[in-house]
Amino acid sequence: MSRFRLYPTPAQEAALLEHCKHARYVWNLALEQWSMWTRGQRPTPGFAAQCRQLTEARAAFDWLRAGSQTVQQQALRDFQQAVKNFFGGTHRRPSWRKAGHREGFRIVGLQASRVAKRNRKWAEVNVPKVGWVRLRLSRAVPDAKSYRITRDRAHRWHIAFTAIPQPIPAPGTGEVVGVDRGITVSAALSTGELLTCPGLSDRERDRLKRLQRRLARCRRGSNRRRRTKDAIAKLHARARDRRKDWVEKISTDLARRFDLIRVEDLRVMQMTRRPKPIPDHDRPGAYLPNRRRAKAGLSRGILANGWGEMVVRLQHKAIGRVEKVKSAYTSQTCSACGYCAPENRKSQAIFRCVACGHLANADVNAAVNIAAGRAVSARQETPPRVSPKREPQHATSA
Ligand SMILES: [Zn+2]
Repeated sequence: MSRFRLYPTPAQEAALLEHCKHARYVWNLALEQWSMWTRGQRPTPGFAAQCRQLTEARAAFDWLRAGSQTVQQQALRDFQQAVKNFFGGTHRRPSWRKAGHREGFRIVGLQASRVAKRNRKWAEVNVPKVGWVRLRLSRAVPDAKSYRITRDRAHRWHIAFTAIPQPIPAPGTGEVVGVDRGITVSAALSTGELLTCPGLSDRERDRLKRLQRRLARCRRGSNRRRRTKDAIAKLHARARDRRKDWVEKISTDLARRFDLIRVEDLRVMQMTRRPKPIPDHDRPGAYLPNRRRAKAGLSRGILANGWGEMVVRLQHKAIGRVEKVKSAYTSQTCSACGYCAPENRKSQAIFRCVACGHLANADVNAAVNIAAGRAVSARQETPPRVSPKREPQHATSA
């Protein structure tokens, strides 16, 4: 994804804001309908049904009809995708769009490729019903399948192009790699390589902490508070950019080097969801500890490491060469003899088999199990070997 700063004229800005408003309206309408339908037992209306309803709504409301149908339909499509992602377990439940909060809309298809280079520093993009909007060329504009236009809190406009990467041909060596997405390192490969996703430097992290403390002291609605918030958002954006670059680099590298890439079948969102409060029955109104703080740290680690993004990019680049392996007990099972016991895991970093004495980095040991596509269950001395094509049958969900 590559992002550029957009420089609309005041008239274009007004038109862009209208698009944002319409996209938000349509999204919220679809969400309202979806939440009502899911409470009943009937199937939810699909995209086609919602499109018909959109046509009706456009006929009824002048202000909606004045807007771009492309933008409004895309908001519906985006919503359908969000629902799919939610049921697929990779994303949170779709939520309400609020005015002034992450405003934006998306354009997909041929219209997304209407970009004209004007000179070395500037290009223009033809936005439906808005016209040619100037964008500052900070790098080459990719061959895009879609773009999203957004306005940030500081009222700056950006355009982000999404290019589906060219598939990378398999090397044809028959080599298989297992990728374990760890906490202490970002990823461990069955080859023994440990990969760390770059985040913020120590200095940047200190600065972030200072800013967050300052934010807590700022008066609501003050300029100081707004400036502090912007500075925090900037640091987060920097970390996000680094993570994205890293994901691109690693996914390309893996797709080039290996014929088959096996990853854990982990439901990232389930792991990062907030733990439920546990009411204390002895003390009404009080709650038992639910390890929320510990989990918050873990969640941050998982999200910071960008697991979901990695798998998506791998699937784009190594088409049909990514396999998800059920991850139960991969971290407790010895990759040398197959003995599975929690005692094998000496610490976060060290694996030592109590049966055969095999000593390894804990994440690499798990990656080797994943590479083998092994289904393992607890307390089994010889886990059943499963042929790569079949679904593991004895895997228990952790
Ligand atoms: Zn062993």
